[in-house]
Amino acid sequence: MNKVIIFSAPSGSGKTTVVNHLLATMPKLSFSVSATTRKPREGEQNGREYYFLEKEDFLQKINNNEFLEHEEVYKGLYYGTLKSEVERIWSQGKTVVFDVDVVGGLNIKKEFGDAALAVFLRPPSMDVLMDRLTKRSTEVEHQLKERLDKAKFEFQFETKYDSVLINDKLEDTFVNAEKLVTDFINS
Ligand code: ADP
Ligand code: 5GP
Repeated sequence: MNKVIIFSAPSGSGKTTVVNHLLATMPKLSFSVSATTRKPREGEQNGREYYFLEKEDFLQKINNNEFLEHEEVYKGLYYGTLKSEVERIWSQGKTVVFDVDVVGGLNIKKEFGDAALAVFLRPPSMDVLMDRLTKRSTEVEHQLKERLDKAKFEFQFETKYDSVLINDKLEDTFVNAEKLVTDFINS
Protein backbone atom coordinates (compact mmCIF):
# COMPACT_ATOMS: atom_id res chain seq x y z
CA MET A 1 0.00 0.00 0.00
CA ASN A 2 1.18 3.53 -0.75
CA LYS A 3 1.66 5.32 2.56
CA VAL A 4 2.25 8.78 3.96
CA ILE A 5 3.65 10.03 7.28
CA ILE A 6 2.69 13.43 8.62
CA PHE A 7 4.74 15.39 11.16
CA SER A 8 2.89 18.35 12.61
CA ALA A 9 3.59 20.63 15.53
CA PRO A 10 3.73 24.27 16.48
CA SER A 11 6.62 26.12 14.89
CA GLY A 12 9.87 25.50 16.80
CA SER A 13 8.88 22.08 18.18
CA GLY A 14 11.53 20.31 16.12
CA LYS A 15 9.74 18.99 13.00
CA THR A 16 12.50 19.94 10.60
CA THR A 17 15.17 18.46 12.88
CA VAL A 18 13.34 15.16 13.33
CA VAL A 19 12.22 14.85 9.70
CA ASN A 20 15.73 15.54 8.41
CA HIS A 21 17.12 12.85 10.71
CA LEU A 22 14.57 10.31 9.46
CA LEU A 23 15.23 11.21 5.82
CA ALA A 24 18.96 10.79 6.34
CA THR A 25 18.64 7.39 8.02
CA MET A 26 15.66 5.77 6.25
CA PRO A 27 16.02 5.54 2.46
CA LYS A 28 12.42 4.37 2.06
CA LEU A 29 11.23 7.87 3.01
CA SER A 30 11.00 10.89 0.75
CA PHE A 31 10.10 14.48 1.64
CA SER A 32 7.08 16.21 0.14
CA VAL A 33 8.39 19.64 -0.81
CA SER A 34 5.66 22.20 -0.11
CA ALA A 35 5.11 25.46 -1.93
CA THR A 36 5.30 28.69 0.07
CA THR A 37 5.27 32.43 -0.42
CA ARG A 38 7.67 33.00 2.50
CA LYS A 39 11.15 34.14 1.58
CA PRO A 40 13.96 31.56 1.81
CA ARG A 41 16.01 31.50 5.03
CA GLU A 42 19.76 31.44 4.83
CA GLY A 43 20.85 28.08 3.42
CA GLU A 44 17.44 27.12 2.06
CA GLN A 45 17.25 26.11 -1.59
CA ASN A 46 14.33 26.32 -3.99
CA GLY A 47 13.02 22.80 -4.62
CA ARG A 48 14.74 21.32 -1.56
CA GLU A 49 13.12 22.82 1.58
CA TYR A 50 10.30 24.49 -0.36
CA TYR A 51 9.24 25.67 -3.77
CA PHE A 52 9.47 29.40 -3.09
CA LEU A 53 6.75 31.16 -5.09
CA GLU A 54 5.48 34.67 -5.60
CA LYS A 55 1.96 35.14 -4.29
CA GLU A 56 0.50 35.38 -7.84
CA ASP A 57 2.01 32.01 -8.79
CA PHE A 58 0.70 30.46 -5.59
CA LEU A 59 -2.82 31.76 -6.28
CA GLN A 60 -2.59 30.46 -9.84
CA LYS A 61 -1.82 26.97 -8.51
CA ILE A 62 -4.86 27.18 -6.22
CA ASN A 63 -6.97 28.05 -9.29
CA ASN A 64 -5.47 25.14 -11.21
CA ASN A 65 -6.43 22.77 -8.35
CA GLU A 66 -2.80 21.72 -7.89
CA PHE A 67 -2.91 21.57 -4.08
CA LEU A 68 -3.95 18.71 -1.84
CA GLU A 69 -4.32 21.33 0.90
CA HIS A 70 -3.18 24.90 1.32
CA GLU A 71 -3.38 27.52 4.04
CA GLU A 72 -2.42 31.02 5.01
CA VAL A 73 -0.44 29.62 7.96
CA TYR A 74 0.77 33.03 9.12
CA LYS A 75 -0.56 36.43 8.09
CA GLY A 76 0.26 36.96 4.41
CA LEU A 77 2.27 33.71 4.20
CA TYR A 78 0.80 30.86 2.19
CA TYR A 79 1.89 27.23 2.36
CA GLY A 80 0.54 24.28 0.40
CA THR A 81 1.04 20.59 -0.36
CA LEU A 82 1.24 19.85 -4.06
CA LYS A 83 -0.60 16.78 -5.36
CA SER A 84 2.30 16.24 -7.77
CA GLU A 85 4.69 15.64 -4.83
CA VAL A 86 2.70 12.64 -3.62
CA GLU A 87 2.56 11.17 -7.14
CA ARG A 88 6.28 11.77 -7.68
CA ILE A 89 7.24 10.00 -4.45
CA TRP A 90 4.83 7.08 -4.75
CA SER A 91 5.97 6.45 -8.32
CA GLN A 92 9.44 5.82 -6.83
CA GLY A 93 7.95 3.22 -4.47
CA LYS A 94 8.68 5.41 -1.44
CA THR A 95 6.69 6.63 1.56
CA VAL A 96 5.84 10.33 1.62
CA VAL A 97 6.88 12.45 4.62
CA PHE A 98 5.09 15.75 5.28
CA ASP A 99 6.20 18.59 7.55
CA VAL A 100 3.04 20.68 7.76
CA ASP A 101 1.18 22.78 10.30
CA VAL A 102 -1.35 21.25 12.67
CA VAL A 103 -4.49 22.02 10.67
CA GLY A 104 -2.90 20.98 7.36
CA GLY A 105 -1.77 17.73 8.97
CA LEU A 106 -5.31 16.82 9.98
CA ASN A 107 -6.58 17.62 6.48
CA ILE A 108 -4.00 15.28 4.98
CA LYS A 109 -4.89 12.56 7.52
CA LYS A 110 -8.55 12.88 6.50
CA GLU A 111 -7.56 12.44 2.85
CA PHE A 112 -5.46 9.28 3.34
CA GLY A 113 -7.07 7.59 6.38
CA ASP A 114 -5.33 4.35 7.39
CA ALA A 115 -2.66 4.89 4.74
CA ALA A 116 -1.46 7.84 6.84
CA LEU A 117 0.37 8.03 10.16
CA ALA A 118 -0.17 11.44 11.76
CA VAL A 119 2.42 12.33 14.40
CA PHE A 120 2.14 15.37 16.66
CA LEU A 121 5.53 16.49 17.90
CA ARG A 122 5.40 18.28 21.22
CA PRO A 123 8.07 20.28 23.02
CA PRO A 124 8.24 19.52 26.78
CA SER A 125 6.74 22.95 27.64
CA MET A 126 5.82 26.37 26.24
CA ASP A 127 8.95 27.83 27.86
CA VAL A 128 11.17 25.37 26.03
CA LEU A 129 9.37 26.12 22.76
CA MET A 130 9.89 29.84 23.27
CA ASP A 131 13.55 29.27 24.05
CA ARG A 132 14.15 27.10 20.95
CA LEU A 133 12.34 29.49 18.62
CA THR A 134 14.18 32.50 20.02
CA LYS A 135 17.55 30.80 19.69
CA ARG A 136 16.80 29.69 16.12
CA SER A 137 16.77 33.44 15.31
CA THR A 138 14.88 33.08 12.05
CA GLU A 139 11.96 35.37 12.87
CA VAL A 140 11.77 39.01 13.83
CA GLU A 141 10.00 39.92 17.09
CA HIS A 142 6.41 40.26 15.81
CA GLN A 143 6.69 37.03 13.78
CA LEU A 144 8.00 35.22 16.85
CA LYS A 145 5.01 36.41 18.85
CA GLU A 146 2.62 35.32 16.08
CA ARG A 147 4.17 31.84 16.06
CA LEU A 148 3.96 31.49 19.85
CA ASP A 149 0.35 32.72 19.94
CA LYS A 150 -0.56 30.22 17.25
CA ALA A 151 1.19 27.44 19.19
CA LYS A 152 -1.32 27.80 22.04
CA PHE A 153 -4.17 27.25 19.56
CA GLU A 154 -2.38 24.32 17.91
CA PHE A 155 -1.81 22.38 21.15
CA GLN A 156 -5.58 21.76 21.33
CA PHE A 157 -5.40 19.44 18.35
CA GLU A 158 -2.85 16.94 19.62
CA THR A 159 -5.48 14.38 20.68
CA LYS A 160 -6.69 14.13 17.08
CA TYR A 161 -3.33 12.70 16.03
CA ASP A 162 -2.43 8.99 15.81
CA SER A 163 0.67 9.50 17.98
CA VAL A 164 2.18 12.20 20.16
CA LEU A 165 5.95 12.36 20.37
CA ILE A 166 7.53 14.53 23.05
CA ASN A 167 10.70 16.18 21.82
CA ASP A 168 12.75 16.60 24.97
CA LYS A 169 16.15 14.95 24.62
CA LEU A 170 16.89 14.85 20.92
CA GLU A 171 18.58 11.41 20.89
CA ASP A 172 15.49 9.87 22.54
CA THR A 173 13.17 11.61 20.10
CA PHE A 174 15.15 10.24 17.16
CA VAL A 175 14.93 6.67 18.49
CA ASN A 176 11.21 6.96 19.24
CA ALA A 177 10.48 8.53 15.85
CA GLU A 178 12.41 5.78 14.04
CA LYS A 179 10.41 3.13 15.88
CA LEU A 180 7.05 4.75 15.14
CA VAL A 181 7.88 5.08 11.46
CA THR A 182 9.34 1.58 11.10
CA ASP A 183 6.32 -0.02 12.79
CA PHE A 184 3.96 1.89 10.52
CA ILE A 185 5.83 1.07 7.31
CA ASN A 186 5.93 -2.63 8.24
CA SER A 187 2.29 -2.78 9.35
P1 ADP B 1 10.22 23.27 13.45
O1 ADP B 1 10.62 22.67 12.14
O2 ADP B 1 9.15 22.47 14.15
O3 ADP B 1 9.85 24.73 13.37
P2 ADP B 1 13.07 23.04 14.17
O4 ADP B 1 13.42 21.64 13.78
O5 ADP B 1 13.53 24.15 13.28
O6 ADP B 1 11.47 23.18 14.44
O7 ADP B 1 13.60 23.24 15.66
C1 ADP B 1 13.55 24.53 16.29
C2 ADP B 1 14.91 24.82 16.96
O8 ADP B 1 15.06 23.96 18.09
C3 ADP B 1 16.09 24.54 16.05
O9 ADP B 1 17.07 25.52 16.27
C4 ADP B 1 16.56 23.15 16.49
O10 ADP B 1 17.95 22.98 16.28
C5 ADP B 1 16.22 23.13 17.98
N1 ADP B 1 15.84 21.80 18.50
C6 ADP B 1 15.04 20.88 17.93
N2 ADP B 1 14.87 19.80 18.74
C7 ADP B 1 15.59 20.07 19.87
C8 ADP B 1 15.83 19.33 21.10
N3 ADP B 1 15.28 18.14 21.33
N4 ADP B 1 16.60 19.92 22.02
C9 ADP B 1 17.16 21.13 21.82
N5 ADP B 1 16.97 21.87 20.69
C10 ADP B 1 16.21 21.34 19.72
P1 5GP C 1 8.35 27.55 8.34
O1 5GP C 1 8.07 28.93 7.84
O2 5GP C 1 8.89 27.55 9.76
O3 5GP C 1 9.16 26.71 7.39
O4 5GP C 1 6.94 26.79 8.44
C1 5GP C 1 5.87 27.38 9.11
C2 5GP C 1 4.78 26.35 9.30
O5 5GP C 1 4.18 26.01 8.05
C3 5GP C 1 5.28 25.04 9.90
O6 5GP C 1 4.36 24.62 10.91
C4 5GP C 1 5.26 24.10 8.72
O7 5GP C 1 5.09 22.76 9.13
C5 5GP C 1 4.05 24.61 7.98
N1 5GP C 1 3.98 24.13 6.59
C6 5GP C 1 5.00 23.87 5.74
N2 5GP C 1 4.53 23.41 4.57
C7 5GP C 1 3.19 23.35 4.68
C8 5GP C 1 2.13 22.93 3.81
O8 5GP C 1 2.33 22.50 2.68
N3 5GP C 1 0.87 23.01 4.29
C9 5GP C 1 0.59 23.48 5.54
N4 5GP C 1 -0.70 23.50 5.90
N5 5GP C 1 1.54 23.89 6.38
C10 5GP C 1 2.82 23.82 5.97
